[in-house]
Amino acid sequence: MTQSTPHVASTPVAVSFEFFPPKTAEMEQKLWQVIERLAPLGPRFVSVTYGAGGSTRERTHATVRRIRHETALEPAAHLTCVGASRDEIDEVVRDYWAAGIRHLVALRGDPPAGASRYEPHPGGYAYAADLVEGIRRIADFEISVAAYPETHPEATSAEADLDNLKRKIDAGATRAITQYFFEADTFLRFRDRARKAGITVPIVPGIMPVTNFGQIVKFSAACGATVPASLARAFEGLDDDPETRRMVAATVAVDLVRKLEAEGVADFHFYTVNRAELTVAICHMLGVRAPLGALPSAPALAV
Ligand code: FAD
Repeated sequence: MTQSTPHVASTPVAVSFEFFPPKTAEMEQKLWQVIERLAPLGPRFVSVTYGAGGSTRERTHATVRRIRHETALEPAAHLTCVGASRDEIDEVVRDYWAAGIRHLVALRGDPPAGASRYEPHPGGYAYAADLVEGIRRIADFEISVAAYPETHPEATSAEADLDNLKRKIDAGATRAITQYFFEADTFLRFRDRARKAGITVPIVPGIMPVTNFGQIVKFSAACGATVPASLARAFEGLDDDPETRRMVAATVAVDLVRKLEAEGVADFHFYTVNRAELTVAICHMLGVRAPLGALPSAPALAV
């Protein structure tokens, strides 16, 4: 290759999809339609988030198990340190292993509703790095952890946050999945800093297709993601125009993933918000496609 040859992504792109556990039978039915639609794209894994509180957690366990038993997909169960003792968490981990689950996403978790700041459970795992260590002691799971291109809001500095990511990897995590971001440079700069810090595991960008701009603004303020002015301009005036909004959302996200792909990024994690259409469109543009005839018919997926 000569120096003047432009970069062409040569590695096939791999994708993964994140879902949240459905609250009602209707939502569950919709999630299964989404899973049916996304499964033919051959994701490396699909993950299911974990909330605070008993019934929410039961829904995560049930969804993960159903994916394990009823599909050929590899499920990854999110697990947090919030509101449980080490023994309780260890039992969940053992149950997952016994049920054939081999991939966990190990997180500290956010404070439960009503609590203003995170307090480790007495006798619990305090931070995600401790949880990773605990899981490693139990069984040989694949373990993914969270990473923050714009720094976790509670971190004392960007360096301290990167040290924390390194601790999670050193404790046995095999992949970092990032918080979402909207500018490719944000991710690329973070990836450079992580590599310099000696983090060699895959750092997978978390891609959030924007379905509801107002919600994204609120959520981004809480999780520390910057919403660029260009994004606000792109969605301006579209509150009552869902069709155009979806097209804009696809364009914005395709632009982001294409920039990342041109920089050699070959793994993408999609925050699907339990919807299929935008993720399918973005994957299609990345060359991640279902074999011909494998897609369920579109009308079943209309939103
Ligand atoms: P940690 O890595 O433990 O870090 C948390 C903060 O504490 C950071 O600021 C870190 O720098 C600091 N810190 C770490 N160790 C120490 C220490 N020893 N002393 C002092 N400070 C320390 N939340 C859910 O509730 N359920 C989910 O399913 C879920 N899924 C997620 C998936 C992804 C891909 C991402 C990016 C986030 C997810 N979250 C989820 C949100 C996550 O729980 C929050 O961002 C949470 O605030 C931090 O979790 P963490 O695992 O990054 O924590």
